[in-house]
Amino acid sequence: MNVYKEIEKLPVVEELRRKQETVWINPEKKPFSEAVKKAKLTMDDVEDAEKRLERFAPFIMKCFPETRERKGIIESPLSRIPGMQRRLNEKYGSNLKGRLFLKMDSHLAIAGSVKARGGIYEVLKHTEKMAFKHGLLQEGDSYEKLASPECRDFFGNYTIQVGSTGNLGMSIGIMGAAIGYKVIVHMSADAKEWKKKLLRAHGVEVREYDSDYGEAVRQGRRLSNADPQSYFVDDENSKSLFLGYSVAAKRLLRQLEEQKIQVDEEHPLFVYIPCGVGGAPGGVSFGLKQVFKDAVHCFFVEPTEAPCMLLGMATGLQNEISVQDIGLSGLTHADGLAVGRPSAFVGQTMKPHFSGGFTVSDPKLYHFMRDLLDTEGIFLEPSACAAFQGPARIMTDPETEEYLKQNHLWERMDQAVHIAWATGGSLVPEEIREEYMHTFSEEES
Ligand SMILES: *Cc1c(COP(=O)(O)O)cnc(C)c1O
Repeated sequence: MNVYKEIEKLPVVEELRRKQETVWINPEKKPFSEAVKKAKLTMDDVEDAEKRLERFAPFIMKCFPETRERKGIIESPLSRIPGMQRRLNEKYGSNLKGRLFLKMDSHLAIAGSVKARGGIYEVLKHTEKMAFKHGLLQEGDSYEKLASPECRDFFGNYTIQVGSTGNLGMSIGIMGAAIGYKVIVHMSADAKEWKKKLLRAHGVEVREYDSDYGEAVRQGRRLSNADPQSYFVDDENSKSLFLGYSVAAKRLLRQLEEQKIQVDEEHPLFVYIPCGVGGAPGGVSFGLKQVFKDAVHCFFVEPTEAPCMLLGMATGLQNEISVQDIGLSGLTHADGLAVGRPSAFVGQTMKPHFSGGFTVSDPKLYHFMRDLLDTEGIFLEPSACAAFQGPARIMTDPETEEYLKQNHLWERMDQAVHIAWATGGSLVPEEIREEYMHTFSEEES
């Protein structure tokens, strides 16, 4: 098609095609006050989602005792990682100024990944709607009621389906099964065996496809739409998922305040989030923009083999272009990020908000993974380690340097706060961790 001939001339597309590690600065980013003028979603929507999760807290606490400590609120620690910052500077020449933190969604209760935000939220939102419609809940009831055998039996008549590369399936599957739904997860070829096994152990039906994520979603959507008792969680278009992720922002604000970490225009916040279809980095960043406005700078990070969001945003074609269209395989060790076509909804919504995006090679994910384990004793899955490409490159790449200078940030970097968003890892079984320790080892390369 001609349109591809045209876009192939863009330097950034040529870099992506050559699988180079790339940095892209978003030319469409607007000051916050301007960016929100035409916005369809607002802070009210974020707060509505936050309140819904609070209503469900008694139910969550009852079904998942590990959430007791946080009173049924599923939230992760924010940790300073000075050892990793030193490692980035010494080994990769990152010259990172300010302070580096890790937002440990890898250790979120129930699902062990960022999907515990969006996925679980969407299941709960659907459940609340059904419960009121069918008289299981009345205004003012404690949602603990939903854990009763009668409620479970009721939800057993209904199905939830989802297409997944693994982690979304786990969050929907585990929460869906806890409520009593029949859950069917349509898994793409990238999905790891241990994730399928874990889901089956929760009584979830796993259907496997030889194809990629987009095809698994299509099949799931088709089968669900054919069944009036079935609800489909649509990762490519869902506002609920997006808003579930966005709730992270107000909670982060509280954590920063508790740890007395200042964030404002003089003390800029940089956030780096691994990106697949875009919902998690988009939703979290959307929330952060509402809370911190122009003081926060949000970057997404993708594998060099599957940079679908960067490609969609840089060309303006959003989901009308796939990574396969420019000759990439879409295959990557970063299973959570193995997506060939981005969410158009996220691309459109985040167009005035994202500062930019990075790509990172597969071997580097494992190097970062071992660096973090070595310096901080924290294990993350390879997908999550994509986040470190941001702090590794932000001070040294010519494009980001220009961004920092143009936005009068360069001279403020000593006061900067950097957050690598660790999107998953705590559920990875020991034998798989061991295998990861030897994958793309640095001696070989
Ligand atoms: C799903 C996932 C992401 C990215 O989320 P998207 O909504 O697909 O962009 C990042 N890291 C991990 C570990 C994930 O499972």
